[in-house]
Amino acid sequence: MGLFHDLFGKSSKARRREEAYAKRQQNQGRWDDMTGEDREDDTPEPAQNDVIKALSQELIARAHGGGSEPEVPLEETDAFKKFAASTRAQAAEVKAKNKAAKGSGGPATQVDYDKLIDEIVAETPQDMMPIGNVEAICPYCSTRLKNKPLKKKKCPKCRNEIQVARRPTDGLRVLATDEQVEALEVQEFLQSGEYEKQVWLLKERMKRIKASGEGFWRCDAGIDARSVPIEAFYMHGKVVAVGSPEEREALEILCIPRCIGMPVAFHGDPKFETMDDYYASQRYERALEIYQTLPKSMKDSEYARELRRILG
Ligand SMILES: [Zn+2]
Repeated sequence: MGLFHDLFGKSSKARRREEAYAKRQQNQGRWDDMTGEDREDDTPEPAQNDVIKALSQELIARAHGGGSEPEVPLEETDAFKKFAASTRAQAAEVKAKNKAAKGSGGPATQVDYDKLIDEIVAETPQDMMPIGNVEAICPYCSTRLKNKPLKKKKCPKCRNEIQVARRPTDGLRVLATDEQVEALEVQEFLQSGEYEKQVWLLKERMKRIKASGEGFWRCDAGIDARSVPIEAFYMHGKVVAVGSPEEREALEILCIPRCIGMPVAFHGDPKFETMDDYYASQRYERALEIYQTLPKSMKDSEYARELRRILG
């Protein structure tokens, strides 16, 4: 309120200055809550104009040493209280409007990506449970082996390839399935602090997307990685609207530990094809490649079934 007090008691200031100030205050109230949405050019309601006018008149009167109640601080005058209330009401209206526009492909909204990504990371499984067998037991069929192998070896009973890996949680050498090896690699990634770097980089990239002011971005889901979650295939190449539920889904993929995907700037008509030919062919080729090189133990897995679905 400093400025209001400065005005108080000052000799005649130009009427326009006071009015401009009151107007600015009003706009400030609006813009503080405008979350980046382009201001719609709806004319202010007459009631609002009256409120501003009353406040301006009070300010001018005070500047001349008068006003309705000169000894009462400006913030406690009727004119100011009405003005403040109408500003708050308008801000709430704008907020509600923005909320309604979110997720409906409406105007671009602003998202606090640091906060959103932190939320997603908190929900992302980061299980550090010990995985694999320390003892000489096949991780597939639980057959006891004569000796604990030092490197990968076929199980004499089930014929699956027993992997030998170091378990990051305790450093022990364990016998693991192909899927368990991937889980161990994720644990290693989490433990080494690499995941924090991945999350940090994603936040930085989203800040750039935000700074571009575009209402959409494309999700490169990083399907060139050695292991690719099925959801990443579905998200790869998708264009998502800022602030939409789909955007959150895309960020969930990019927050999976070891994901090498990234947001890509998208310029163009929002009435896009969600997958253009380029991304669709990448998706198909990579799914085929992964399917063809799946280890024997995973040929009948849910993952393999999903891959077959993608390949059609
Ligand atoms: Zn076995």
